[in-house]
Amino acid sequence: MIKENLLLIQSEIPENVTLVAVSKLNTADRVLEAYQAGQKVFGENRVQELLPKYEVLPKDIEWHLIGHLQTNKVKYIAPFISLIQSVDSLKLLAEINKEAKKNNRVINVLLQFHVAQEETKFGLDLVEAKDLLESDLYKSMKNVCVVGIMGMASNTNNEAQIRKEFKQLKEIFTCLKKDFFFLDEKFKELSMGMSSDYQVAINEGATIVRVGSKIFK
Ligand SMILES: *Cc1c(COP(=O)(O)O)cnc(C)c1O
Repeated sequence: MIKENLLLIQSEIPENVTLVAVSKLNTADRVLEAYQAGQKVFGENRVQELLPKYEVLPKDIEWHLIGHLQTNKVKYIAPFISLIQSVDSLKLLAEINKEAKKNNRVINVLLQFHVAQEETKFGLDLVEAKDLLESDLYKSMKNVCVVGIMGMASNTNNEAQIRKEFKQLKEIFTCLKKDFFFLDEKFKELSMGMSSDYQVAINEGATIVRVGSKIFK
């Protein structure tokens, strides 16, 4: 079933959009099934769940961290993580930079923005992001690369609301691109959209979609 689900979703996604298969709450065996069907990029939201999967699964998998990350957990993923999508503070970014340096790597990250109505979701607003990007500490970091932004829409069936929030994320992306990353070709990713709303997200300019339950149902 996983293979059929993947093929269906892949057929709906333009070639230039990256599908991250969100494997949280699924066993390594099920992740392997998706891998064998051709999926190479996977997302996990908890370090404790990612590490055992990383250990047993093929090493050419690209792992994305998509959930809230505590600074004391960065060291465990720094050796191998492909993209940390959930950077929501300067302190966390500084820790990622430090651990990346120890591993002789540059780690790609996305800044996470809060646009949903729910209070509980993590993320920056535009003012906080600008403060971060203008700080001397950020400018001194050589082992992190901000390649774009990530966000989640409200958990609602109201498509107009979801579309509005995706438009907001796109505006934030455009604004940061213009003010901070104008000449930086690496800043190009807009990660938004999950199982219930990835078509809307792609419509609004997503370059990365994070799909879990529709693949692993
Ligand atoms: C779980 C999760 C997803 C995937 O959600 P589905 O509805 O299962 O597709 C995407 N992004 C984040 C940040 C998540 O935690």
